[in-house]
Amino acid sequence: MTTILATWEQPGKVAIETASRAIQDGADLRTILEKGLAACELDPELLAIGLGALPNSDGEVELDGSMMDGADLSAGAVCSVRGIVPVISVARRVMEKTPHVMIAGEQARRFAISQGFRPQNLMTAENVRRYDEWKQSPAEVERAYVHAADEHYGDTVTMIGWETPGHLVAASSTSGLAWKMPGRVGDSPIIGAGIYADDDAGAAGATGWGEELWKGMASFRAVENMRRGMNAQEACDETIRQMLRRQPRCVDMMCVVFAASKDGDFGAATTTGEFPMWICQDGKIEMRKYAAPGA
Ligand code: ASP
Repeated sequence: MTTILATWEQPGKVAIETASRAIQDGADLRTILEKGLAACELDPELLAIGLGALPNSDGEVELDGSMMDGADLSAGAVCSVRGIVPVISVARRVMEKTPHVMIAGEQARRFAISQGFRPQNLMTAENVRRYDEWKQSPAEVERAYVHAADEHYGDTVTMIGWETPGHLVAASSTSGLAWKMPGRVGDSPIIGAGIYADDDAGAAGATGWGEELWKGMASFRAVENMRRGMNAQEACDETIRQMLRRQPRCVDMMCVVFAASKDGDFGAATTTGEFPMWICQDGKIEMRKYAAPGA
């Protein structure tokens, strides 16, 4: 049996449907998640990740991606990559073809090219239009990349895959916060912050306000909570409770953590608002909504 989880309503739908087809084709967990995320990255209509994503404050799309396999803790990531998609596939190459965990910026782009990826312009008519609109609004530019809970753009798709008897892979792809400072990197490509997977305990992923999720080491913390015996929902609730206690500003900034335990149960929690998560189980796809612990 295989269970796949994917974040956010619109980009997540493409990811989960693609992953579901990959399961039917008999793909392994790494490939199921890679295909799900790559399909989103290559879809120019989706503003969240990859081609056509919302750019940084200079009008350039900068992408981050990561993958971790809980079987042996292998991990690979890239950050601040320009002009290459899908970055999730580059992150997987870092994991499988180099002795390293992360390659950054221009060197990640060069590594991708050496692996056969073709550089391309990631700006489309729609993200250029959105950027120009943002740039022309002084109030918006003043606020720069600060997002409040009710205006989260869902700039990331993070996925977790679980298969019997208890193998887990986590992966994430993001364009980061829209209008971010050039070179800014959030939680998504950081192992322990944006994703973590350990077959001994479980896997977790994060999305939302990357700086706070990173400071809180949200994914690692959720996995450690499962290691201490919590199920996935309890582990997520406890992670969010700890973040709210130590990082009280998160009450107004959407920070989400979701998880699957080594036994295959899953859950999610958010500091504020309502978080939509896709679930593919036994060939059936459904979306559930999650809130703050106790809400
Ligand atoms: N966590 C991502 C970041 O901060 C953004 C997101 O999840 O939408 O880069």
